This record gives sequence, structure tokens and C-alpha cells, in this order.
Amino acid sequence: MITLHDLKFIPFIAEDKISAAIDELSSNLTKDLSDSNPIFIGVLNGAFMFVSEVMKRFHHECEVSFVKLASYDGTETTSNVTKLIGLQEDVSGRTVVILEDIVDTGNTIEELITIFKDKGCSEVKIATLFFKPEAYTKDIKLDYIGMKIPNRFIVGYGLDYNGLGRNLTEVYQLKQDNMTNLVLFGPPGAGKGTQAEVLKQKYDLVHISTGDVFRYNIKNATELGTLAKSYIDKGQLVPDEVTINMLNAEVDKNPEAKGFIFDGFPRTEAQADSLAELLSSKGSTVSAMVALEVDDEVLVQRLLERGKTSGRPDDADEGVIRNRIKVYYDETAILKNYYQKQDKYYGVDGVGDISEITERLSSVIDTL
Ligand code: AMP
Repeated sequence: MITLHDLKFIPFIAEDKISAAIDELSSNLTKDLSDSNPIFIGVLNGAFMFVSEVMKRFHHECEVSFVKLASYDGTETTSNVTKLIGLQEDVSGRTVVILEDIVDTGNTIEELITIFKDKGCSEVKIATLFFKPEAYTKDIKLDYIGMKIPNRFIVGYGLDYNGLGRNLTEVYQLKQDNMTNLVLFGPPGAGKGTQAEVLKQKYDLVHISTGDVFRYNIKNATELGTLAKSYIDKGQLVPDEVTINMLNAEVDKNPEAKGFIFDGFPRTEAQADSLAELLSSKGSTVSAMVALEVDDEVLVQRLLERGKTSGRPDDADEGVIRNRIKVYYDETAILKNYYQKQDKYYGVDGVGDISEITERLSSVIDTL
């Protein structure tokens, strides 16, 4: 994480990804503009780095120039007027390729196209390193796009926040942490599912139960289901790689979520690390691990009772139940440590009325 002025930014797009995008964009330019002697117009300040990378990869005759769009208050009207500064070349009859670092609303591009068409260019093409489709409000077709990105505030690779960050060789995004991400923890039968249902309504969060997702896949005989079944039936953990990929996919299905309740995940340290990485890529973190604490014998009784109606084979057999509880303590209690070290662990008494337990959980969540 880096700090620029008063804001924090986290890594977003690595240098090799940016480089690969410019390779492809430049090779398309090279292919399309082999004998038109184009004049590349870099839009300052943001595009300087992108322009130099494109130039290095363009293998035909060409020229390059830079412009700035300056807006100033019109003297006779109160509206903003935009003026192009810096262009000395005669561009009439030329192929102009405008090189932009980023296109978001498209206002700047629209202005530039109007200005260059007025100057009598034979054609005006647009190449942008980054493009935010969600923010774009114009119909103008962008001829060359390096990378489409979500509507986030980014810096680096020429782009700045109040002047800083242009020299970063990778792209960072603003760290925005309005999300509440709860890891709901506790041994099998502790009431995680029940409480998650209540809490997701109350706090408008997306509930992801890895156990439920596996069971759904088993029921629908998917590839994932078949793979997971053999482990689940024995009360063992599904391998990390399978579980982590599945969880990432579930989180990605909810890009607008205000936060998540992770139920049954993470169960291993590798899963916890991967969750931290995933949330960090969204500018967020785990807010807290809230753990329901319930005595083993109470758990066994609850699960046997549930097994009479749940149809879950892993609830029907006391041996499997005891193994799941043992696996929980052996392999997953380590996570209590993991989150305790980060001051994020909250133990909550899980015995009592459902609403009473919800109250206890809420009193923790409300302080986050
Ligand atoms: P649950 O419904 O959370 O008790 O999960 C039921 C079963 O699904 C577990 O006993 C595991 O076999 C599998 N499972 C669920 N979540 C995970 C996870 N995070 N990692 C590995 N296996 C999992």
C-alpha cells in the first residue's frame, strides 16, 4: 500500500499486464497504419509514459507531438471553454492518432475529436491505455483500447492524484474500505448458517457458505461437486486450491456487494491468506472474525437432531460429526490465532435463543 497526499492506494494492475496490453495495442497500430505516416498526439500530462511505450513498439514512419487541453473561464460567458495548447504541426490531410492514458466519461475525447476534425485531418483515431466502460457516456467508438478497467480511481503509469503518482511503474487503485467483511466462525452445528441468514438481512451483506456451494454442486452433479463429494462425505476438508477457486468465483459474482459473510471459509491458513489477497484486490480487508463458541456435546446433539431432517449424510452419523468437530479444532482453530494477531477475533457465546445470539453478534459488528 502507498500513500499519496491524504489517500491510500493499493496495487491494482501489475507492470507486466500493462506492458502486454501495450504490446497488443501497438501491434494493431503497426498493422493498421503501415503506410499512412501517422502523427501520434499524446495528451499531457497523463499520457507521456504510454506514448513513449507505444513509440518504441511502432515500426513504421511516424511523428509524435503532445497537446494539452486547458479549460478557462470564458470572458463573455460564464461557461467553461476548452482550448487546445501545444500543437504546432499542420495536421490537415494527416492521419492523427490521439493517445490517451485513460478514457472515462469520454468528454475529453469528444472535445479532441471535434478540434482535430476542424483542422482538416484525413482521419482521427483514438488509442487509450485504459478505458472505463461503466463511466463512458459517449457513442464515439474507441479504435484501440489497451485495457478495460472497472470504474475506480487509479494512479500510476502517468496518472496522478493531485500531481503525485505519475512515476509509478504499476497502477494502483484508491483504497476504499466501506465494506464489512465478516468471517463467521465456529464448529459445525454452532449455528453459523442460522445467524448468517439474519445478519445478511440486517447488514445488507452477501452470505457465502462454502458448504452450501459444495452441496449445491453435488446436487447438480457438477464437476466441482463430484470432486468435493468424496471429501465431504468423510467429513474431511476439500483441498485448498479447489475451495479457494470456488470462493473467488462466488465473490466475483457480487461486484456491488457492501460486504460479505464468509461462512465456513477460511478453514486453513492458506485460505485465510488467499481471502486477504482477494479482498485487497477490491481495496478491502476482513473486518472481523466472529466466532460462535459452543460446547462439543451440545454440537453433537444439535447436529444429530438436524440430521433427522436436513438430508445431509454428514449430519446422520455421530462418527462423522465428531470427526468434523475434531477437524475444526485441529486444522481450523489455527485461524483463531491468525485473526487474533490482527486484533480481529471476537468470540461470542453461541448457546441461547437465536435472537439473543444475534444480539451478541450485532453488538460486535456495530463497533467495526
Ligand atoms: P459446512 O457446511 O461448512 O459444515 O461444510 C461441509 C463440508 O464442506 C466440510 O466438512 C468440508 O468437507 C467442505 N467444506 C466447506 N467449506 C470448506 C472449506 N473452506 N475448505 C475445505 N472444505 C470445505
